[in-house]
Amino acid sequence: MDPDRSRRYLHAMGVQVWRPRGTNMDTDGPEEAPPHEGDAMISESAEPSNVAPEPPPQAVPAAEVSGMDWERLSEAVSSCRACELCATRTQTVFGVGNRQADLMVIGEAPGADEDRKGEPFVGRAGQLLNLMLAAIGLEREQVFIANILKCRPPQNRDPRPEEALRCTPYLMRQIALVRPRVLLSVGRISAQKLLETDNPIGKLRGRWFVFGPDEIPLTVTYHPAYLLRSPDQKARAWQDLIEVTRRLRATAEDSGAGTVA
Ligand code: URA
Repeated sequence: MDPDRSRRYLHAMGVQVWRPRGTNMDTDGPEEAPPHEGDAMISESAEPSNVAPEPPPQAVPAAEVSGMDWERLSEAVSSCRACELCATRTQTVFGVGNRQADLMVIGEAPGADEDRKGEPFVGRAGQLLNLMLAAIGLEREQVFIANILKCRPPQNRDPRPEEALRCTPYLMRQIALVRPRVLLSVGRISAQKLLETDNPIGKLRGRWFVFGPDEIPLTVTYHPAYLLRSPDQKARAWQDLIEVTRRLRATAEDSGAGTVA
């Protein structure tokens, strides 16, 4: 990675790399406020209006989803009625990016901007995410970006357990199809759902986990919406990203595969 380029992106992110950090990676960080509070401040849209009465939600069997190719998966998501969120969404937000990505980023759920555009991380938090990726030499298009939920929860409230449960098979299939070298979980909700824990994010970031049947290395960092509200935490997020780069390099070397920026 070109250090000048990286420095420019870090500057844009608001990270002062020369500033001594007060704590190391293994100490507990502060608990992260729900990321969507930030998104609510960022995106100023009204609730989608929904007039026609909808039939009751219909769950999609996980076994069926686990055999789908990209096309069928994308169709299943866009017509999904597995939970109540189908009644209030403008559209589903499938995920975007390189389907053979080395790095897959997993957020929480679409906010208002994403619900409107049908693409994850397109609001202010998304712009910061793009800068964070650029700081480690990755374009947004090089990674695959998805969320725990494919539909926006009204008022950006936290996902409900049954919503996450119904939606998770889609994400699991996306992970299996992309088969990234590294998973980066952004934010408390994403981390807690993926790792099936109630631990605070301060206890989850700065560590590596092994995820799923493909044993993909997974690490956690702060949600960009949280970083917009708490810029003093950006230095820690930067440390997390450095670890991601190291792991991407190490896995590329192990497999004798191509280069990582
Ligand atoms: N926050 C998320 O977690 N995901 C998005 O797509 C947008 C904001």
